[in-house]
Amino acid sequence: LEPLEIHGIGTAAERAQRLAAALEAVNLPQELAQRDPHELSGGQLQRVVIARALVLEPRLVVCDEPVSALDVSVQAQVVNLLGSLQRARGIAYLFISHDLKVIRHISHRVAVMYLGKLVETAAREALFGDPLHPYTRALIDAVPVPDPTRRGRRALLQGDPPSPIDPPPGCRFHTRCPLAQARCRQEEPALREVARGRSVACHLVEAAAGAPVP
Ligand code: SF4
Repeated sequence: LEPLEIHGIGTAAERAQRLAAALEAVNLPQELAQRDPHELSGGQLQRVVIARALVLEPRLVVCDEPVSALDVSVQAQVVNLLGSLQRARGIAYLFISHDLKVIRHISHRVAVMYLGKLVETAAREALFGDPLHPYTRALIDAVPVPDPTRRGRRALLQGDPPSPIDPPPGCRFHTRCPLAQARCRQEEPALREVARGRSVACHLVEAAAGAPVP
């Protein structure tokens, strides 16, 4: 009830009603509201977090790694729950994750970051179907595929990422990019629109788009 109290929303009875509705929306029994956090499972805790956000009827929810600590079966339940709540309530999510399978499942638009900078933004289908930035290509190629014939064509990332507090000059990705040239080491590429609804930060985006995988 705290979020409602902090925002001064409703009477005590109205707040209790909203709480009951939020628990129902995330498929949790009402009696869980009386329990302490250590009495709940990981999946129940995540549903409580979602209910706590929903109780304020937000238009935008920032989900920061919402399923990374959950096992795979609970992950799927929580992701499907978020999807159904979005369809029912029209909520927008800013969904932050390192798990590309989850991103592909839940997102409409995707923004890829490297060392704190956006390197590519696109609709989900465009990004996964035809990644343009070399880092996006490497990320997508790193997702395990149960097809041995694809192994030889995958552009796996080499080397370790530099420190984000002391990023390399020029393009931050140049120390790991198979296409890097002298210009990349000196000049930081701007995020520029290369097609409608699609932006990429790479000096060689046109070449990168058609380049064979090294
Ligand atoms: Fe690679 Fe250069 Fe493009 Fe950076 S700007 S991603 S180093 S080709």
